[in-house]
Amino acid sequence: MPAPSTTRGGDLLPAAILGLLGSRGSSSRADIARLLRVSPAAVTQATKSLIARGLVAELEAEPSRGGRPARLLGLVSDAASAIGVKVTADHVATVRVTLDGLVRAYSTRAFDPSVPDALDRLGRLLAEAVAAHEGTLLGVGVGVPGSVDSQASGVVTAPTLGWAELPVGAHLRAELGVPVLLDNDVNTLAAAERLYGVGQDAASYVVVTIGRGIGCGVVVDGSIYRGARGGAGEIGHIPVADGPDCACGGTGCLEALIGEEALVRRAREEGLIGPAQGIAELTGAADEGVPGAAEVFATAGRLLGRALAGVVHTIDPGVVVIQGEGVTAWRHWQSPFETSFRRHLMPSRRSLRYQVHAWSEQQWTLGAASLVLAAPFDSADTAGEQGRLVRARLQDPEGGA
Ligand SMILES: [Zn+2]
Repeated sequence: MPAPSTTRGGDLLPAAILGLLGSRGSSSRADIARLLRVSPAAVTQATKSLIARGLVAELEAEPSRGGRPARLLGLVSDAASAIGVKVTADHVATVRVTLDGLVRAYSTRAFDPSVPDALDRLGRLLAEAVAAHEGTLLGVGVGVPGSVDSQASGVVTAPTLGWAELPVGAHLRAELGVPVLLDNDVNTLAAAERLYGVGQDAASYVVVTIGRGIGCGVVVDGSIYRGARGGAGEIGHIPVADGPDCACGGTGCLEALIGEEALVRRAREEGLIGPAQGIAELTGAADEGVPGAAEVFATAGRLLGRALAGVVHTIDPGVVVIQGEGVTAWRHWQSPFETSFRRHLMPSRRSLRYQVHAWSEQQWTLGAASLVLAAPFDSADTAGEQGRLVRARLQDPEGGA
């Protein structure tokens, strides 16, 4: 875990302690000092004020290893929470997550992003969620299926939502009156991994999503790599063949070959499923051993393995995470993927670990909430003023920001 910066955005130490307790669980002061690479005296000073503010409490003593038993510190779970939001082409999902990563409420509402006043409607919908929130709200994290130029500005371009250069961040901040952090939806999953998953041990990793879209969140040295316009990680649009046409305007993109729509189209053409049936029926057909059905996923697995080998050679991640709604059929992708991935990797990279995570739609919103809950670790100040406002609220829940 990177050390908190004290040079930018004020003193990050109290917020970093809260973030550490949230992601690692209860810890002794000595462990906190070691993990954050700061002096024990600084930790003692910072935790004193956190305890006084009701954010942190002393728990039972850790088993003694000879000396005086160390008191464990833990978060007061309900002291503060974040709202995570995922915007899709037909609905908005929201979740409330406490400081220690526990889900308290999850709901979805119908939403049409293509109407002229979509942004106003989204603002009103989220204002209701903020108004219904009890206790200290640190901020609202929003994941969108598109590019966000920077977390600090929050200008969104998302073709699947029909949004081009839309000032979503500024609009929502004005409407909601709380910090609002935005990012590409796959990047939000990478942020969640940083807090609760592989990012605790690996400084560089990639999170690949399969399903309706094929995406990738790239984390390099502890920070999400965004690119010049926030569009990094669009591995779904790596051209891997001469056809078919892709929704992006290109041709032969990975997503046009192994995205959910492509798999369903092929299965319909081959008569494996009916003309009105979809991915669930195709998965069912493969499960039942219908000839040809498993091969649709196998082809996708082989192509994914080949493309990911190229990504690995470019990024050199410590671990690869595979997520997304498509993993519900992973048993049919797995073996062809494994063979293809290993075969296309350079010998020195061939033993690279990858993890496939069980999926639920809630993951998108948890990722979005992680944008807010990760603010204590934002030593690079990527979220700018919004991140500093979240940290200010953490340190002074009564005063807010
Ligand atoms: Zn494309």
